Amino acid sequence: MNTVNIALLSVGTELLLGDTVNTNLSSLGQTLYNNGFILSSEVTVPDKKEIIKDEFLKLFDKNDVIISCGGIGPTEDDFTKEVICSALEIDLEVDEEHLSWMKSRWEARGFTMPETNIKQAQIPVGSTKLINSQGTAPGILIKHSGKYIFILPGPPREFNPLVIDEVVPLLKDNFSATNKEYEFVLFFNQAESSLAEEINKFKPEGLDLAYLASKGVIKLRYDKNSIDEVNLKEFLTRLKDTFKDSIIGYQNIPASKALFNLLKEKNLTLSLVESITGGNLSSEIINYPGASSILLAANTLYSNEAKKEYLSDDISDDWETLSKELSEKSIKKHKSSISLAILGEAGPIPSSNYKIGEIFIAISNNKQTVNFYHKLRGSREDIINRAVNNAIWDLINFIK
Ligand code: ATP
Ligand code: MG
Repeated sequence: MNTVNIALLSVGTELLLGDTVNTNLSSLGQTLYNNGFILSSEVTVPDKKEIIKDEFLKLFDKNDVIISCGGIGPTEDDFTKEVICSALEIDLEVDEEHLSWMKSRWEARGFTMPETNIKQAQIPVGSTKLINSQGTAPGILIKHSGKYIFILPGPPREFNPLVIDEVVPLLKDNFSATNKEYEFVLFFNQAESSLAEEINKFKPEGLDLAYLASKGVIKLRYDKNSIDEVNLKEFLTRLKDTFKDSIIGYQNIPASKALFNLLKEKNLTLSLVESITGGNLSSEIINYPGASSILLAANTLYSNEAKKEYLSDDISDDWETLSKELSEKSIKKHKSSISLAILGEAGPIPSSNYKIGEIFIAISNNKQTVNFYHKLRGSREDIINRAVNNAIWDLINFIK
């Protein structure tokens, strides 16, 4: 069996306008990868016949499997199926069985199906109709010149099941899986360029490696099959030795999940007092099943009055002191094994005596409280997101 080139053609002006995020691309990429295949390329086109045709033919030329998504609805700006069929010189014919099923669906709701919808029951001659349990337009599979063309609906809840039920099995039956096997190392607080510079000093030749940075966390992705085992082992040992103070973990998971796993592994409970992050830190942690046995309480205290009430005392102007007091109150009040309080100035107009981006974190256990200070840059949103990640990282370090 041969390896396979797979392309996605995403159809929809809304994708190019930025109105809709192309989640079909990310979910297809992930589903294929999880099943041993890799999406080779993707092209997004507007709802314009000429462009759809041109780009489809280019992809058809270079790939074994071409998947289109979008533009198979009943409205006049939906014509992906018609364009692909005309490009391949295939006729369309009405599938009477599908037409009567569509009509009966309308009648069941007390309506008559509009004439315009008939086109959804048109099927390319010689193609296979794929059951779309979530919508009225069927998916379509055309086999042409030894290649496979899937014409799939745009809405993700219709597209995704068709990928799992139809595309993946066809790939498994007809093509061999990739030998790429990606693994990940997650870093915190390393500038991408200086990290890469350091790693390049001992990176073995031929290692397929990439850096993905987001909100202060850098993911290093490498293909473990791109070099031999001995070299890989040596590289990883060197990596761990060099960066042990900034490695979050060795899985492709969010930093909050790495923290969650660590708390769980050590049987620790947590309580939080959030000001600048406004609940974002706790909302990350409650994403994971079992959170209730770890996160005991999270207080969002935004105003000075709320902080006073929580402490039953006047509050300090010094945020290092205030964060310490809040953290210590939290651990006492909720009897957690670890508590954290986070204060900071997110801007864009300062509402305190502190500068924009200044973050004060205090973390307590039953023996001590440790203060952390960070100076973050970026927009209000960046600062809040990074503050969450800094708190996570400080917690990981504190626990370790
Ligand atoms: P419908 O019958 O619903 O019109 P369709 O196949 O014609 O189906 P589109 O009209 O292209 O699909 O898109 C319908 C909706 O599906 C869009 O409004 C958008 O919300 C969503 N959608 C389309 N393409 C994508 C995509 N690539 N990623 C995420 N969502 C998408
Ligand atoms: Mg549509």
